[in-house]
Amino acid sequence: MFFVRIQYKYKGLKEFMSILKLETPQKSQQAVDALYQVLENRLASNPAGMCPVDTCLAFVRLCHSQSCGKCVPCRVGLGQLAQLMEDVLEGTAKAETLPLIEKTAESIYLTADCAIGYEAARIVLKSVKEFRDDFIAHIKEGRCLGNMRGPIPCVSFCPAKVDIPGYVALVAEGRYTDAVQLIRKDNPFPTACAFVCEHPCENNCRRNMVDDAINIRALKRYAVDHAEPKAAPEAHPATGKQIAVIGGGPSGMTAAYYLQLMGHQVTVYERLNQLGGMIRYGIPSYRLPRERLDDDLNHILSTGVQVKYGVNVGTDVTMDELRKQYDAVYLSIGAHTDKKLRIENENAEGVMSAVEMLRRIGENNPPEFKGKKVVVVGGGNVAMDVARSSVRLGAEKVYIAYRRRKKDMTALPDEVEGAIAEGCEVLEMYAPDSVKVDENNRCVAMNLRPQMAGAIDRSGRPSPVDAPAPVLELECDLVVVAIGQNIQYQVFADAGIPCSKWGTIEAGDDTVIQEVDGVFSGGDCVTGPATVIRSIAAGKVAAVNIDAYLGYQHELDFGVTVPEPELIDRTPCGRCNTKEREACERKQDFEMIEFGLSDAEAKQEALRCLRCDKYGPGSLKGGRGQW
Ligand SMILES: Cc1cc2nc3c(=O)[nH]c(=O)nc-3n(C[C@H](O)[C@H](O)[C@H](O)COP(=O)(O)OP(=O)(O)OC[C@H]3O[C@@H](n4cnc5c(N)ncnc54)[C@H](O)[C@@H]3O)c2cc1C
Ligand code: SF4
Ligand code: SF4
Repeated sequence: MFFVRIQYKYKGLKEFMSILKLETPQKSQQAVDALYQVLENRLASNPAGMCPVDTCLAFVRLCHSQSCGKCVPCRVGLGQLAQLMEDVLEGTAKAETLPLIEKTAESIYLTADCAIGYEAARIVLKSVKEFRDDFIAHIKEGRCLGNMRGPIPCVSFCPAKVDIPGYVALVAEGRYTDAVQLIRKDNPFPTACAFVCEHPCENNCRRNMVDDAINIRALKRYAVDHAEPKAAPEAHPATGKQIAVIGGGPSGMTAAYYLQLMGHQVTVYERLNQLGGMIRYGIPSYRLPRERLDDDLNHILSTGVQVKYGVNVGTDVTMDELRKQYDAVYLSIGAHTDKKLRIENENAEGVMSAVEMLRRIGENNPPEFKGKKVVVVGGGNVAMDVARSSVRLGAEKVYIAYRRRKKDMTALPDEVEGAIAEGCEVLEMYAPDSVKVDENNRCVAMNLRPQMAGAIDRSGRPSPVDAPAPVLELECDLVVVAIGQNIQYQVFADAGIPCSKWGTIEAGDDTVIQEVDGVFSGGDCVTGPATVIRSIAAGKVAAVNIDAYLGYQHELDFGVTVPEPELIDRTPCGRCNTKEREACERKQDFEMIEFGLSDAEAKQEALRCLRCDKYGPGSLKGGRGQW
């Protein structure tokens, strides 16, 4: 490649003048870029539920402090804008303040000389438009709609609100058993989450402002790998109340654990022969060894939770019978039926659902994949689990057909890269068209329709549309459909449980089903397929609200004290990531693929934590350093 300089000879000028030149960023632009970076890092490490008016004002102030002062709109206007917004926050603003803010911002936007002024004004205009209700609530009622319940950024993004700085500090002190006990206070599946949690907590870690997020999940893994077994805390005296939990997945078992510790007798009804739900029958053992899942389940069962295995509620026993027999019922049946492609020959021999395939592996009865060509349809984490399991079952070739672009897949990037490293081939922009069958109705090929990227849809990704290209006939023996799961809601709908038109159980954020007294519901069956930690959070919320419904307000004491922060400098330092077995070796078996952190890595990682429970946001209401 070479750069073409266009030259132009001006009349009367002796020399050529170039009309193209390399641009060097202006000073103001450099300052604004730096501001964005600071702001981006700060926003990324804000606790959930921050007030948007407050955040926006902070940005205006930041820009104002960077103003070079050359132009009036920026030098004076931004100051006025900041004052008006301060009035809003302080409750001294009047009804006319909001239009005045808009007018001021608009005129700065149109007249400021550089990006510092007009970008600050643009953000204000955008905030007033998008968070108008927040501005109005401040002006009219002196009330903030920001729903920040806890100021610690990582904790506010963990659905179960695990005490992260607490357990990280315990790991730093080598108190691993206490660290696990502290996690159990909010999440009775520390081991399962140490292996498979999608760790939303890390996205907003405040350490992002310094270098990189703390490896919170890996520290949990280190704690569970090094902790001694410890008995559950002593339960409250028996209340005589009986509770039925339907479904022994993470949500049901979480509710069971806390309710049992509160002194109620819980009986879990599970239609399969083992507990764990999708953690056991979906997530492959190369990501979570089954015996490690049993560590969590055995701890929960040690509290005295009873289990009735092999009982399908709705057929073996009815909802009405359970409601009569128990003081409260928690419904957490997950999402276990497969979504259909609705294409020709979908019921052919050789076509199966992801749920069926993974369940058979979970039951130690894997389907025959040796030497087969497999097409996996889907682009989520479940599709990756299916593809990588197919490789381990000895498939000759594994394709992953996805109707959007690879970068639009909902699977975690590490999962996609892992599948590719293990030999799976991703066919992006191919939608399923039909299954080709032989005379015995056996699948012999998958027909795929080429797609092209179309208009951006509500998910923010280009929607796939048929491309003007011929259908691709991909020879294969097996097709595994991994495009999502539905909920088996019908028997519950028939029993009067309200269900949405998408077939989910209708319960509030508090897990309460308003229409049916004494029945609560949460987890995947309410949200649709989600994550382990979200279903655990629902189980915890259900336990507290069932306890209140029964007329109690039990507090649980796990007896762990959190260490005081060490007063050491936290100098910038890289994040330690976990490593994996080599692809060529790990794809031969279902053994665990991820290694834990080493002792030195865990210690260094734990000491990187800024202890936001005490300092920074932790000094706000709800933090440990509250003033
Ligand atoms: C392949 C796969 C991989 C996944 N990977 C991850 C991951 O890496 N990280 C992550 O966070 N999440 C992952 N998930 C999602 C996660 O497993 C689920 O969100 C979570 O298990 C939901 O918990 P739950 O308790 O709501 O339901 P489930 O785990 O589905 O449990 C419901 C239980 O109810 C039982 N049941 C159903 N109907 C009845 C009935 N009528 N009577 C009695 N019992 C009944 C079921 O047998 C089951 O045991 C994955 C899911 C799948 C399918
Ligand atoms: S359970 Fe998940 S989200 Fe919560 S602290 Fe652990 S890794 Fe983070
Ligand atoms: S630095 Fe520590 S306390 Fe602060 S957000 Fe990150 S993990 Fe949480």
